[in-house]
Amino acid sequence: MHVSLKRPALISLICLSVLVSLLPVTAQDGGTTMPTPVVPATPTPIPKPPPTTVLTEERATLEVYFASLEQGQTGLLHVMGDGLAGARLSFANTLVDFFSMPDDGYYGFLSISMEQTARNYDLDVLVWYADGTRQTISTKIEVVIGGFIKQVVTLAPDKSYLADPELERNELAKFESIFSNVSPDKLWDASGFQMPIPGGELTSPFGAFRNFNGTMDTRHTGWDIRATLGQPVMASAAGTVVYTGFMDIHGNVVVVDHGMGVFTTYNHFSQTHVTRGQTITAGQVLGLVGATGRTSGAHFHWEVAVNGNFVDAVQFMNMWKPG
Ligand SMILES: [Zn+2]
Repeated sequence: MHVSLKRPALISLICLSVLVSLLPVTAQDGGTTMPTPVVPATPTPIPKPPPTTVLTEERATLEVYFASLEQGQTGLLHVMGDGLAGARLSFANTLVDFFSMPDDGYYGFLSISMEQTARNYDLDVLVWYADGTRQTISTKIEVVIGGFIKQVVTLAPDKSYLADPELERNELAKFESIFSNVSPDKLWDASGFQMPIPGGELTSPFGAFRNFNGTMDTRHTGWDIRATLGQPVMASAAGTVVYTGFMDIHGNVVVVDHGMGVFTTYNHFSQTHVTRGQTITAGQVLGLVGATGRTSGAHFHWEVAVNGNFVDAVQFMNMWKPG
C-alpha cells in the first residue's frame, strides 16, 4: 500500500467550547442551530450508482463515480480488465493503491483535503497486469470549493490554554502517524458505514473555518453530533481499534481502522469500552459521550480520514462503497 500523506497547513483538531458564535447562526454549547442534514436512524443499503465517466484504453476500463469533488469530499474509482494485477492513482503528488474485490476488479478512493486548491487536476491511474505489462489511463478531476462556514469560538478561561497552535500541530502529527499505518485488507462489511449515534442531530459541520479567542485560526476536522453525557457511541463500521488514549484537544479518543486507508475517530469520551488491537463489529459500543478535551459541554465529535486526509464523514458515509 502506498499512501502519501500531505500535511495541511492549518488543519487542526477542534471541538466545541463554551461559546460558539456561528456565522450566520448562533450556537450555545456543543451544538448549533445549523440546518440538520437528514440522516437515517438505521443504515439502509446504498444502491450502486452508474459511473459518471467510463474510459476504456487497451485492456483496461476506468470508471469514475463522480463528476467533480468538493474540498473535503471523497470519490470512488474502479478499474477492470483481463489479467489485471493492480492499480494505483496519482493525484496532486499523492499516490494511492487500489484494492481488489473478488471478481470485480480494483477500487480506489480519491480523498480531497479540505485545503486543496479548487481547480482542475490531472488524475493518472496506473494499472499493471499479471504478465508484467503496464498502462496509464489519464483524465481530469475538478476540485470545487467546499463552501465551508466561518465560526468564532470563545474559550472559557480554564480552557483557553487549549487554543495553542503547537498543541494542535502535535495532535495532528499523532493522527498522521496513526493514519499512515494502512491495513491492506478491507475490514468494513456489507453493512457499510453508519452514524455513531443513530439518528443523532448533526450540529457543527466539517471543515468550518474557526477562530479561537480572536487569535488562532483553525479548521473543524469532523462533524459534531448533539449528545448527552454517558450516551453510548457505536462504531461506524467493522474494523480494528488502533488507538485509545487521551489527547489534549480531542480528549479521550478511539480510532478505528477500516482498512484501505479509511479510519474513523471518536472523541471527547467520558469512558472508552475497547482496547487497542480489538476487532470490532459495526454498531459495537466504543465508549460513552463525555466532555474531555477542548469542549465545555458533552457532545460527540466524529471524524473520518481517508488516505491521510480528514474528509466529510457524512458524505463518505452516504457514498456507495464496495462491501
Ligand atoms: Zn467537533
